[in-house]
Formats: sequence, structure tokens, C-alpha cells
Amino acid sequence: MNNFSYARAIDVSGAVSEISADTGAKFIAGGTNLIDLMKENVTHPSRLIDINRLPLNRIEENEIGGLRLGALCTNAETAYHAEVENRYPLLSKAILAGASPQLRNMATDGGNLLQRTRCYYFYDTATPCSKREPGTGCSAIEGFNRMHAIFGWSEQCIATYPGDMANALAALEAVVNVEGESGKRQIKFEDFHRLPGDTPNIDNNLRGDEIITSIDLPEKGFVEHHAYLKLRDRTSYAFALVAVAVGLEMDGDSIKEARLVLGGVAHKPWRDKEAEKLLEGKTATKENFQMVAEKIFGEAKGFEHNSFKIELGKRAVIRALRQAVEMKRENDSQFHRTSSEPV
Ligand SMILES: Cc1cc2nc3c(=O)[nH]c(=O)nc-3n(C[C@H](O)[C@H](O)[C@H](O)COP(=O)(O)OP(=O)(O)OC[C@H]3O[C@@H](n4cnc5c(N)ncnc54)[C@H](O)[C@@H]3O)c2cc1C
Ligand code: SF4
Repeated sequence: MNNFSYARAIDVSGAVSEISADTGAKFIAGGTNLIDLMKENVTHPSRLIDINRLPLNRIEENEIGGLRLGALCTNAETAYHAEVENRYPLLSKAILAGASPQLRNMATDGGNLLQRTRCYYFYDTATPCSKREPGTGCSAIEGFNRMHAIFGWSEQCIATYPGDMANALAALEAVVNVEGESGKRQIKFEDFHRLPGDTPNIDNNLRGDEIITSIDLPEKGFVEHHAYLKLRDRTSYAFALVAVAVGLEMDGDSIKEARLVLGGVAHKPWRDKEAEKLLEGKTATKENFQMVAEKIFGEAKGFEHNSFKIELGKRAVIRALRQAVEMKRENDSQFHRTSSEPV
């Protein structure tokens, strides 16, 4: 039995003061990850600071022509919000690809970004794990590593970040708004999560005294051409083996702008800006998509049980790009294909 105390914060500054006063304290939002980690003996907070009463549960316009998602909005509220569905369908789809309806009703947007890896050894306290206990080593490198990273891993840790929402947020170039003892700051989404390096115990760049207050979405939502493709062992209630978030801006058959982020393959959402540049100005053909997929996965390095992700990932990228291009065509008769040639 690990004792902990409990406090309920009623405003953001109070929550920040509470967390700053005790380095062993943790915020609790939906509790869908934190409580599991406590039950599994992976984490032992000395104090839980309940933030559910904070006024951070609204979705509203922001100053940059986009939407601000309060950190305490649930995943379900966000995914089904009319403005999110209409302006950021990629985000809705990514959220709905995750977890289960019950979990999405509890899980908050802030908590979702901070969920911890699903590496089996991280949850198994009988095995060495440098993410759980720094310096003890990585059981997954020589162990069962089917779910693990093929990009950006280190000798210290090959875990993946397991979330879905974050892949869409990375593709949309969202910004995370945080507040701590030294005031408010914004973290660009690509800088929010970290690669493991020598400090795999640190998942992200949020400071110990900071709370996520909201997430800002820029105006551009890639409404007409986007796709979220999640490949997993079961079609629901399972984490991604490979996920692809794509947003495209098309000029006829040609790609004007591309965003491409992979999930389930690295310690953070894996955005490949070089691949995006390669796509830009290209015609939407299978050959061009194949060329880009080869480029992306040319840099991948797998392990005994997860090297299949390289071929799976290539196919997923090609399929997601095709889906993103075709979604407009399906609704637009002038683009209906007459030949059997796949895009
Ligand atoms: C069986 C199962 C399947 C799942 N499948 C998926 C899936 O397929 N895809 C997916 O994306 N997710 C999946 N999830 C994860 C789920 O989405 C997350 O557990 C959830 O989003 C976490 O949100 P929460 O509000 O419950 O966070 P909590 O569990 O309350 O907190 C998680 C962490 O975030 C911190 N925290 C919470 N809010 C804040 C804040 N505002 N500021 C600073 N720190 C904060 C807490 O201190 C804690 O460390 C699954 C979970 C389970 C249990
Ligand atoms: S991959 Fe990371 S989380 Fe998993 S055992 Fe290795 S160090 Fe721990």
C-alpha cells in the first residue's frame, strides 16, 4: 500500500502552487492512465492534485483563426464537437481511432498528450527498465519488442509514444499552452515530446511545475484532403503498430502542401519534413507515394520482433496518402476515375 494525499485545485494558480510545493505530487485529470500506473506500482505519487474543477473545459476560437481546446475537454467532447468535426476532421478521426468510447468519455486532451508508453517491461516492475528506473537498462532491446520503435530510439530505450490524438496535432502544427511558477509559455507541438536519448525517463518538455492549460489549433485544418490510418492487432481498443496522419493541400492532381506524421514507430509523433518536401509539387501517383515511403523507411531500424513495421509502414503511408487524395474525388464527379489505374 502506497499512501498518498489528495487535494482539489479550483484555479490554475492554485494547481501550480500545489504541484510546485511537492516534487512527488502529480495532477490527476481523467485518471485513465495515472491510476493504472499507480495500481501497477509503476508510479507512486505522494500527492494527487485533482484538476477536474479547473475552468479548462471549453473549446473556443483563438486569436490565430483556429480553435483552442481546453486541457480538460474530454477526448469524446473534442472529437464530436461540431467545430472540430467541420474544421479539423483529421483530429476527430485520430481521437476516435484511440481507446474505447468509455475511455474517451473520461480521458482528457491534456492527459492524452502525457500518457506513458505501453512497453510491456515498463509496466512489469520485475524487469529492468531505464524509463521506469534510470540506468537499469532496457529489457525490450533483447526481449519481445513487437510494439517498439523503429525511428529515433536509443540504446537506453526503444519505447514508442502510444497516442493517436498527438499524431494529428503534430500534423496540424498545434501549440501547447502551459502555465507554471514562472508564468505562461507556449510549446510548439514538434518540441513537446522528446526522443529517449540518455534520459528516457523524461517523455516531454513540460516542466515539473507546469500544467497544460490548452492546445491551440492553427487555422488550417486540411479539411478536403486528410487521412488518419491506424494499423493494429485488433480493429478497436488497441494501440497502433503503425499510424499515419496525413494532411494535403492539392492543386488539381498536384500536391501543393503536405504534412505527414507517423505514430507507433518512435518515442514521439514522427514527422518527416523531408518527405513532406519531396511530396510537394509532385503529382498524386502511386509511384510518387512509393518513392516517398521508401525514403521515409530507408532510415528505419527495427529489432527482432518489429522489423515487419518497416514494410507495413511503407504500405500504410501509400494507403494514407491515397485516401487523403481520394476523399475529395469521391465527392467530386469531375475527378471520378474512369481507368482502373490506382492513384
Ligand atoms: C485500455 C486502454 C486503451 C487505450 N487506447 C488508446 C489508444 O488507442 N490511443 C490513445 O491515444 N490512447 C489510448 N489510451 C490512453 C488514454 O487515451 C489516456 O489514458 C488518456 O488520454 C489520458 O488522459 P487522462 O485525462 O485520463 O489522464 P490521467 O491519467 O489523469 O493523467 C495522465 C498524466 O497526465 C498528467 N496530466 C493530466 N492532465 C494534465 C494537465 N492538464 N497538465 C499537466 N499534467 C496533466 C497526469 O499527472 C498524469 O501524469 C488507452 C487507455 C487505456 C486504459
Ligand atoms: S523500451 Fe524503454 S520503456 Fe521499454 S523496457 Fe526499454 S527502457 Fe523501459
